[in-house]
Order: sequence, then C-alpha cells, then structure tokens
Amino acid sequence: MVLGDIADGMTRGVENLGDRISGALFEPVIRLGVTGLSRAGKTVFITSLVANLLDRGRMPQLIAASSGTIRAAYLQPQPDDTVARFDYETHLSTLSGANPKWPQSTRTVSELRLSLKVQPTGILGALSGPRKIHIDIVDYPGEWLLDLSLLDKSFAEWSEQTLTRLADQPQAAAFLAQLQALDPTQPHAEETAQEIAAAYTGALAAARDQGMALATPGRFLLPGDLAGSPVLTFAPLPGHAKYPRGSLGREMQRRYEAYKAKVVKPFFRDHFSRIDRQVVLVDVLGAIHRGPRALEETRLAMADILSAFRPGRNAFLRSIFLGRRVEKILFAATKADHLHHSQHPQLTAIVEALLKEAKARADYAGANTAAMSIAALRATTEERIDHKGQTLDVVRGTLADTEKEAALYPGELPLDPGHILAPARQGDTAWLDADYQIMRFAPARMTLKPGDGPPHIRLDKAAEFLLGDRLV
Ligand code: GDP
Repeated sequence: MVLGDIADGMTRGVENLGDRISGALFEPVIRLGVTGLSRAGKTVFITSLVANLLDRGRMPQLIAASSGTIRAAYLQPQPDDTVARFDYETHLSTLSGANPKWPQSTRTVSELRLSLKVQPTGILGALSGPRKIHIDIVDYPGEWLLDLSLLDKSFAEWSEQTLTRLADQPQAAAFLAQLQALDPTQPHAEETAQEIAAAYTGALAAARDQGMALATPGRFLLPGDLAGSPVLTFAPLPGHAKYPRGSLGREMQRRYEAYKAKVVKPFFRDHFSRIDRQVVLVDVLGAIHRGPRALEETRLAMADILSAFRPGRNAFLRSIFLGRRVEKILFAATKADHLHHSQHPQLTAIVEALLKEAKARADYAGANTAAMSIAALRATTEERIDHKGQTLDVVRGTLADTEKEAALYPGELPLDPGHILAPARQGDTAWLDADYQIMRFAPARMTLKPGDGPPHIRLDKAAEFLLGDRLV
C-alpha cells in the first residue's frame, strides 16, 4: 500500500509540472477549484465569474480588469479530454434568457478553460509584451472532499461512527429499523444489498434536506456516472469486524474498501492534487435559516473541508501533493443578495468566525485564507420600508416558485457572531429569540450594457483574492 502511494505520487509529480506550464509556449496555468456542498451555489458562481471575466465592466475590484491589464478573455478547449466540460453556455442562457431560471446544479466534476491575454501597464509591460494566462476552473462537489476522512477508517470504524450519528435523527428511522431486522452474517444476496443501500441513501438524502452536511460516502447523493454500481451499493452495519466468507457483511466491507481505492483515491489524485487556488462556497444564510443544528454542521463541514488542504496530516495526500500545496483558499458565504447591504458586515463576520474556528479545529496553518460574503448573481433590489412604525431594510425580488414579487426582511443578524455560533455549538435545537427567513428568488431579468457581465455582489473582490496576484 505504501509502495502504491509512492508510485501514485511520482506520476502525479511529473504531470503536475506539465500542468502548471502549458505546452512549449510556457503559458502559465492557474487551476482554480470551485467546491461547496450541494446547492451552495457552485454552478451559478462559475457561470457568473466566467461571464464577468469575459465582459469585465462590473469587475472594478479586480485590479487587472479595472487597470486594463487584461486585454482580452476567451474560452478555449480544456486540457483534460476525459473530464466533462462545464456547460457554461447552457447555464448562462438559462440564467439570462427572457424567462430566467436557475441552472442545473453541480452533480459531478467538470472543467472549463478561460484564457486571458494580459499586458501589464507601464514601461515593464510595454517591454515584455502581452502574455497568455490560462485559468482552468474545476467544479466538484464538496461532498466528495468529505470522503477523505474514509481513507483513515476501517469499515467497522466508519459503520460505528455513522450509526452513532444517525441514532438520534428521526429521518434515519426507517433505515435503522431495516438494519435491525438484518443479519449481516447471512449469505450475501444482491437484492438485500440493494435494499439496504437504498434505505441508507434515503436516510442520507433526508438528513441533507434537514441541513445535515456531514454525510458519507459523498457519492451516494452525487453518484456522477457511478449510479447503481456495486461500489455504491453498501451501507454501514453494526458490530462485527470479522464477517464470515460469502456473507453480506463481508461483501459490504469489500465494497467499502473498493469505494476508497477506486473512487475516493482517484478523485484526489486526478483532480484535487492539481488545484492551485480554491474557493469553498458555503450557504451560511440557508444554514442559519434551518436552525442551530444546521449551522453547527456547516461549521464542522468547513473544518473537515479545510483539513483536506493540509496534506501533511495524511500519508496518501502527502504522496500525491509531493510538497506542493493549494496557495489560496477563499471561504465565501453565497447568496448575500438575500440581505440588504446594511447587514452584509454581520454575514461577513459570521463566515469569518466560522473560518477562524475551522482553522483552529483543523489545526490549519498553510495557504493564505480569506472569508467573504458574496452573491454570484444578484437576484434582488434593495428597499427601505415602513412596517408597523418600524423602518426595515428589505430586499425585493420575484419568487422562483410562484413568479410573484415579494419583499423579504430576513431577520436581524447579530453584530457579534458569537451570539449565533454559541447556541449552535451548544446543541440548541431552535434560535431563542430570533427567526431567520429565506426565500427562493428567481434570477432577475437582465438587460446588460455592452461590456458588462451579470450583476453580482463582490464577485470582483473574490476574483482579486483568488487570481489577482497572478495577473499583474
Ligand atoms: P451547486 O449545487 O453548488 O451547483 O448550486 P447552484 O449554483 O446550482 O445553486 C443552487 C441554488 O442556489 C440556485 O438554484 C439558486 O436558487 C441559489 N443561488 C445560487 N447562487 C445564488 C445567488 O448568487 N443569488 C441568489 N439569490 N440565489 C443563488
């Protein structure tokens, strides 16, 4: 196993060099990873980022755009022939058509290459002439990152931890009842394996809908092209480290190990280990709306995600990273257009506090990290209204489900993030004296001036942090 890891690492190391300098022309490549749990906003983020890099009129805080250093931007064929292309054109036309809709969310790993022609202003720039920089954007589900923890766990350990977590979750009751009636030492029958795996997947899906983020294996909910394969047909089982040969338990154990070797490791080796810069999108407002437990899960998930960027901790990661590391990581709270800008500092303070705690928990000291609140696509306008003698800062938009206009006052976020994070950590089940609302707005109809990308909030600041230093 150690030998295998070393061999894995060596091949990657050689390929990595090739990745970062493209072809004979020595054109630099930045591989930008975009991740986050399901529905965090990855697809919308990439679509809007690319549109706003192609048409940079709304990107004043990206210095290379406002200074004119970026002369041109265009899409090019991606370097990896076997990875799905991020379907930018379809997503953009869904968002910006006459009847705008949200695009289909991320389900698997995909990639898009955006190339920039850059000429620094001033004497140096004039001397050196224009150069090309490629940005390879890699979109992948955050759930897959959480699978990293499985590499350190045996089937028995993973089963025990998972079943303990599920024990007090009502949405897992049906699966747990089915498990009770099961004898894992009985001979393996594929039908039983499928039934119990389906019940487990159902429990994971229900937990996710309640805002429970920490659900492994990540592929059970986002199988990509592995749906229905044996490697995704297993479930945690109680007890036994040693199941008899030919038993259901033995087969589940084998499939768990196959999942680690054939699904988890290749993803980390082929995609994750090549990333230079990373943005992790977090639906903090959605978690706050769901309640303290969901926010606590978000906090724990952020720490788990961050620990994947600390290769020193894990022998397998060390072997595939070979001493290099992700240089910058941005944690961004998405969908900030659900809040009037007067409350953006509070949201930013919460995501900053979450990041600080995640860093402490993951014992993380590595890449340059930052926290921000953004909206990749602004779907609302702001208003100040009088309500029962009180002045409220609200946002207004068209509701996605009914297509009716509505004004939203989401609740008052505390100035001190501790006031919301402490009850979450203490395990409270509801917010004591506050209520946080959320609405699903449809994307607003866009009329764009030539040269302008879609409206956003601080996408330019996010791009400056992630890419700015490489574009000067
Ligand atoms: P993914 O699963 O991470 O790819 O998530 P998506 O990018 O598909 O976003 C999930 C949903 O979040 C979308 O369908 C929208 O409802 C919402 N959303 C994402 N980004 C924004 C945003 O910037 N503003 C608003 N108002 N909603 C957003």
